[in-house]
Amino acid sequence: MTESTLRIGLILPDVMGTYGDGGNALVLRQRARMRGLDAEIVEITLDDDVPDSLDVYTLGGAEDFAQRLATRHLSQHTGMQRAAAAGRPVLAICAAIQVLGHWYRTAAGEKVDGIGLFDCTTSPMAARAIGELVTTPLLDGLSQPLSGFENHRGATDLGSAAKPLGTVRHGTGNGVNGPVEGVVQGSVIGTYMHGPLLARNPELADYLLAQATGTTLAPLDLPEVDQLRRERFAAAR
Ligand code: GLN
Repeated sequence: MTESTLRIGLILPDVMGTYGDGGNALVLRQRARMRGLDAEIVEITLDDDVPDSLDVYTLGGAEDFAQRLATRHLSQHTGMQRAAAAGRPVLAICAAIQVLGHWYRTAAGEKVDGIGLFDCTTSPMAARAIGELVTTPLLDGLSQPLSGFENHRGATDLGSAAKPLGTVRHGTGNGVNGPVEGVVQGSVIGTYMHGPLLARNPELADYLLAQATGTTLAPLDLPEVDQLRRERFAAAR
């Protein structure tokens, strides 16, 4: 590892790795390497402290019990919160939105305090939302529709400090406050999109890389990614 190596955090894949969201860290590493940048994935498990020195943080979805273990660990090891306060990008998928909020209520009715990086709370919906999700991004710097696969029971209610990531075109999204999806607050982005998200949405991957490196990246021409997007948008019709 050199000083100029981009360090991509994969946070708690041992408990928040159920839905393949670890692929987001792989996509970030690969797209950085394709630009000639040194990049490595730093896995932080329940056995580790969470450093505040990583360049970008990614967290994946989880089932309710595993999600609770992650919440406790991140409340006790607060490096990611310090990094977020310093403007480092954080990507939180599905259960991780809920963990990063003020609190969430599990499907069994238990209320669990989150770590408060997002001004939001989450409560169960009557039915689970499962299926293709397509949104129009609301984040400055993104112009391409976002594609993902949602699978959650929680409905996330945003407070005034949090903004949605997109407007829902297909699927459920946050499940309250109209057809909105995801959360953006400072440098922290949350979404219910699995897929993995960044394999389907290269513009968002490069947005995060630009934030993490402080540079603008040359575009990549990857026809297989275009093909994947076409297929997923067709599946949502
Ligand atoms: N357990 C949470 C829910 O059902 C999150 C699930 C997930 O991460 N896919 O809402």
